[in-house]
Amino acid sequence: MEQIKQKEKKREPIDEVYYFRDGKEFRITENDEGLLSIVVKDGDKIIIDFERLLADGYKFVAEPYVRRLEQETGKKIWSDWQVDQNYKLVELGHFDGVEDILGLLHEIGHMHLDQNSKEQKIIKRITEKYQAYSKAHRFSWDEGLIAHKVIARQESVRERRAWAYAVEVMKNFKHLYGLDIKEVFPSFESLKIYINDALSSYREHYENLVSLDPNFEDELRRLFDKPNK
Ligand SMILES: [Zn+2]
Repeated sequence: MEQIKQKEKKREPIDEVYYFRDGKEFRITENDEGLLSIVVKDGDKIIIDFERLLADGYKFVAEPYVRRLEQETGKKIWSDWQVDQNYKLVELGHFDGVEDILGLLHEIGHMHLDQNSKEQKIIKRITEKYQAYSKAHRFSWDEGLIAHKVIARQESVRERRAWAYAVEVMKNFKHLYGLDIKEVFPSFESLKIYINDALSSYREHYENLVSLDPNFEDELRRLFDKPNK
């Protein structure tokens, strides 16, 4: 029994393929080191290699790669679907379909846009201050709440920007590669649902994001509806 349990728990390397209506493949493959190759193929021909969208030195990595790094460094690094700027990693878990191209582009958006951003500096400063206070047991709850609000506001700016990046890049895939975002997300509603699901593991849901950032939905809608070039 124990053995069966262990067998079930054993993680298989990621090797997934999803199809567009015209037969193009979205393929995610993990190698022995835990590095991921993510491509769209038309027959044998690779038409998009997402690696080309990475900033210098960044890698797409799966859990085993990050776990090894955690052992080496003694730090907690792994989290599904996030960007680690220190180690230049885009950490990815399983994909569910071609729609996750948008989620992938969202992470790529974080990679390009968050580093050294104003928001990041504010989050870092506030977090350090708040942690120092709480460590010394001298912080007041009011200050804590203000800190959380400031951080949430800054995070919402980052989220919004990364989603706008993802929608914009995916829209461009139509004239670049013949991949139509509207095949994947036929309506703006379906795009909203996807974004909300992606955010649901996170403290901010779509509605929260919109309330913190009232222009968020308008901006996304405009990008989504923008005629293709
Ligand atoms: Zn995000």
